[in-house]
Amino acid sequence: MNHRLLIRVTAPAVAIGLLLFATCLASIRYINRLQANLADILAENVISLQAAQELEIRVRQMRFHTMLYLLDPEPARLDPIKQDQDRFEVALTMAHRASTTDEERKYVHAIEAGYRDYKTEQARLRKAAAEGRPARPRAAKEFPQLADQHPVAQVVVPCQELLRINKEKMEQTADECQRVSHEGHLAMLVLGLAGPVGGILMGYGVARTLRHSIYRLSVRVQDVAQRLDEKVASVSVAADGDIHALDRQMQHIIEKVEEVAGRLQQQQRELTRAEQLSAMGQLAAGVAHEVRNPLTAIKMLVEAGLRARRPRPLGEEDLRIIHREVDRLERTVQGFLDFARLPSSERAPCDLRGVLEQARELVRARTREQGVELIASAPPEPVLASVDRVQFGTVLVNLFLNALDALPNGGRLEATLAEPAEDGTIRLTVTDSGAGIPPEMLDKLFRPFVTTKPHGTGLGLSISARILEEHGGSITAANRPGGGACFTVTLPAQESGVRSQESGESPSLARRAGPSSSDP
Ligand code: ADP
Repeated sequence: MNHRLLIRVTAPAVAIGLLLFATCLASIRYINRLQANLADILAENVISLQAAQELEIRVRQMRFHTMLYLLDPEPARLDPIKQDQDRFEVALTMAHRASTTDEERKYVHAIEAGYRDYKTEQARLRKAAAEGRPARPRAAKEFPQLADQHPVAQVVVPCQELLRINKEKMEQTADECQRVSHEGHLAMLVLGLAGPVGGILMGYGVARTLRHSIYRLSVRVQDVAQRLDEKVASVSVAADGDIHALDRQMQHIIEKVEEVAGRLQQQQRELTRAEQLSAMGQLAAGVAHEVRNPLTAIKMLVEAGLRARRPRPLGEEDLRIIHREVDRLERTVQGFLDFARLPSSERAPCDLRGVLEQARELVRARTREQGVELIASAPPEPVLASVDRVQFGTVLVNLFLNALDALPNGGRLEATLAEPAEDGTIRLTVTDSGAGIPPEMLDKLFRPFVTTKPHGTGLGLSISARILEEHGGSITAANRPGGGACFTVTLPAQESGVRSQESGESPSLARRAGPSSSDP
């Protein structure tokens, strides 16, 4: 699954998950706060309800003892009234503190005002009793009227009202608690349902995205299949978004691609074979051309000697010409054989400075003969490459001999071996101060049998190019701006840490000249 698809699939899932989590937290916080508030309200209500109940009990007792005294005004009956008053006042203080609403405060004030009147009336009765003029005893039938008219009634009524509103408040709070509890259950139910519903939606979304991707992939596969159809027949796929079908289609495509690749390989082999045949044809044509000239010369001389009329016996000059042409034929055939059957190379790590020195030794006599100055330079450190010494030596000798051919009247021949470059290649240049390569030869120098020399075979450079190619290297030719030819040979350097096969022998080139040496 690629990065974009992964984001497209997981991002909504993560977003919905986070949203659900945040909603859960918010709901739990809200319900907790609601419950905490209700608990506070409930605690307040309980205190004020208790205060109101206490007050109501005390006022009842106070009224009972007051009515008892009025029915039977015994001075001893005043004492319980005094006790009732004390308890009532304590309860009144509590009710005062517990009252939180305006309505409660209104009733508490009314109770306080009524109680003040009651206390005044009580003080008057006490004083009269103390002065020996107790109140007139009342008949039992007067009791209802007395209960209603006495100042204690002004205390009893607001006390009952206070108790009533506290009870109502308590009921309201209980209802509120029930409502919050219901809401909590509802919220939990919603959240409980939101999880599975979110999961289903998410799954649906993921399935849709995947299906879409599979569909698009199928379309692309189909496109590839259509293109393949141009190469191979009967590739059929359908873009229906089914992953198993897609798998089958991919398998089918792979088989077809393998088939196409196989065909391409076959074509490549056939092409290479055709190229080889073409090269062989060119080679054969070159050989035929090279063989025909000396054969024609020999045939003409022999025919002259065999003529029926006035035969001309072959003289010494004729035999010399025949010998030279046979020699030429032999060299051509040998060159062809060398080219056609390049012996398999025996490569081993070796210091190219040594090979360069050996090649120079081989052409030393000719350089002296022609008065050519041969300057060879190489780095002081070994220059290691995995080469066949004999074949690489052949390349160098070919280049030196060509340069000497280009310098019949003396001149300068330079061979420069450079240190391995950073890209791991070794570069060797061979330059001369001759006339340079004829421009029309530049693009066909390395083809076999291409020569400008009267007795040349045109095989030296083509054999050299093949040898270097087999060593993983190359050769290029160019004319120098100042005149003369320049051949550049490149070879892959031997990896460091490998000793050359010369068993530590330091080549005389480096030993003698450090960076360079020259002949004659
Ligand atoms: P051959 O030496 O038998 O001609 P080569 O393949 O070695 O065959 O060379 C092909 C041709 O390349 C030569 O005939 C010559 O024209 C040209 N050539 C090679 N080396 C040089 C050089 N150093 N200067 C000028 N021309 C060269």
